[in-house]
Amino acid sequence: MKVVCPYCGFGCKLIIDPQTLTVRPYKGEPNKGRICPKGLYAMEFALSKDRIKKPLKREKNTLKPITWGQAIDEISHKLLEIREFYGPDAVAFIASSKTSNEENYLLQKIARLFGTNNIDNCARLCHEASVHALKMTLGTGAQTNPYEDLEKFGVIIIWGYNPAETHPVVVDYIRKAKERGTKILVIDVRETLTMRFADYKLIIKPGTDVVLANSIMHVIIKEELYNEDFIKKRTTGFSEIRMATMKYTPEYAERVTGIAASLIREVAREFALAGSGAIMWGMGVTQHVSGVENVLAIVDLALLLGYIGERGGLYPMRGQNNVQGAAYMGALSEFLPGYIPLDDEKFRKRVASLWGVNDLPTERGLYLTELWDAIERGDLMALYIVGENPAVSEANFARVRKALKKLDLLVVQDLFMTQTARYAHYLLPASSFCEKEGSYMNSERRIQWSEKVMEPLGDSKPDWEIFTMLGKALDLPGFNYSSVEEITEEYFRLFPELEERDIKELKESDGIFLPKKRLHTWEFAMPNGKARFVAVERIFPWENTNNDYPFALTTIRLINNYNTGEMALRSPSLVKLMGEPKAVISENDARRLRIKAGDLIEIATRRGKIRIKAEIGKIREGVIAIPFHFKANKLTNSALNKAGTPELKFSAARIRKLKTE
Ligand code: SF4
Repeated sequence: MKVVCPYCGFGCKLIIDPQTLTVRPYKGEPNKGRICPKGLYAMEFALSKDRIKKPLKREKNTLKPITWGQAIDEISHKLLEIREFYGPDAVAFIASSKTSNEENYLLQKIARLFGTNNIDNCARLCHEASVHALKMTLGTGAQTNPYEDLEKFGVIIIWGYNPAETHPVVVDYIRKAKERGTKILVIDVRETLTMRFADYKLIIKPGTDVVLANSIMHVIIKEELYNEDFIKKRTTGFSEIRMATMKYTPEYAERVTGIAASLIREVAREFALAGSGAIMWGMGVTQHVSGVENVLAIVDLALLLGYIGERGGLYPMRGQNNVQGAAYMGALSEFLPGYIPLDDEKFRKRVASLWGVNDLPTERGLYLTELWDAIERGDLMALYIVGENPAVSEANFARVRKALKKLDLLVVQDLFMTQTARYAHYLLPASSFCEKEGSYMNSERRIQWSEKVMEPLGDSKPDWEIFTMLGKALDLPGFNYSSVEEITEEYFRLFPELEERDIKELKESDGIFLPKKRLHTWEFAMPNGKARFVAVERIFPWENTNNDYPFALTTIRLINNYNTGEMALRSPSLVKLMGEPKAVISENDARRLRIKAGDLIEIATRRGKIRIKAEIGKIREGVIAIPFHFKANKLTNSALNKAGTPELKFSAARIRKLKTE
């Protein structure tokens, strides 16, 4: 059976034998016979003995099994009661970026028909800054080009992103490009595995990305290397960029970023003269208080050279396997499906009429990252969480755990007893990726069909079936679905590009791109058809380092782990490969603090401390990097950028040696 990998947003297809349940890679697009260890061992967590197999209800301090009928009945009654007393905005829903398009579509439909836009997903923690910046400049909020285009560009810039560990299969495209002569330029705060392919390695001081981008643009403008024709015909706002970047000389940038002025000049010329180029970026760009500005600067740089459409691409590489789909299906508190703003009355009414009501709520809902304060204020009484684990994934997680305890109703729908599920009043057992069918959208906006391999374990149910039961119990119109295809057909009707396509094509092909394979080839999705330069200035990290907290703490990902570890840590083969988590510090810092590799150290921030072993690595002096999958968020900083993403990549910290290995 052809199944979409349940891990990263690259979107590999796996071939799973229904008899032996063994996994091998799909030979077609997008993975072309490649796979990484996470995909290879995906069945291990799905078959884990830890799976929740019955609905559970908290009674005093224990969770007791109940029937599905009782669970849905009691949850819906409580939700309706809370709505009656406090209004619909006293309830919020967190959608899962690991569930299908159909399931995300249904959950946001439930939220909006219930009367609230309090629906969000973990895109808020990763690429929402990219969505905001791309919409502001180009009119669409997603990756512009397919992976295959990477092989044809002259230069690829990989910025704050480590695909060798986060999306291992995309590295094959990068490697092929390099073999063909593409220059690879990698920007990071440490020497990552991805830098093995780099022609240029730029080790940057954390939080100074705008300065670097503006300085590269400064060189390109000063040396008249920009694409005048493209700028004249297809953009607005160039004069503002020219003005704004004037003061960002490479010498100034060297002082701020730590990257030599001569290197900045060299890479600016290399990128400009290549004639075509892609920029790929990840959380190192977006998880800052300057996240939106960082992405705006990256887009400005691409526009300056006309590296959009046929001659270039922008690649905000998505984390979870369906985070792109969750966002596209409308599981965001500020957008309807298709990233359409809530105040687009024509579209909103169209959606409402498809759902059998007159209108939908128009006020922006709470961001996922705003929920915890809303609970503390007493504004939010009930939370319905699907497949997410905010008690570990949110910045400064102690405040999240405190807030979860205050809820009148917490429903968690998941495969496992996660750290978040420990606080639940009701725990609903969901089926895993291989026990249901449905469609998923990968980072390049390719919708792929995933087939069912086996029956749901125990009494678990596919998320769409649970939502159908809940929608009916809440007396919402149109929740009579008897198959997942009925939901696919319904969401197809929302997008003009899909109206003429059918599910058969989706099932039999290597996927359908929404809205199309390559964006912005002729015009931008802006009212005047032109892209807009938006000049940005440097924004300083929220926390200052000082004598008490002299280090900048950042978080990183490991190839054999994933998010909060709920899946990967239940895969014995991955656990064997992943080893112990370690904090990376620079040689000079280690020498100064008399720390050796393997020593136990304590890392403290203003929010708490953790113990972890030290690893001496090639990282900027003054920076510590720790894997985010474990307890990192006990330490991280919850200051938000304009898109609601926390500054997970910069917390002022101190370290001290506890014990020598
Ligand atoms: Fe799965 Fe991503 Fe690995 Fe592909 S690269 S097998 S999608 S985790």
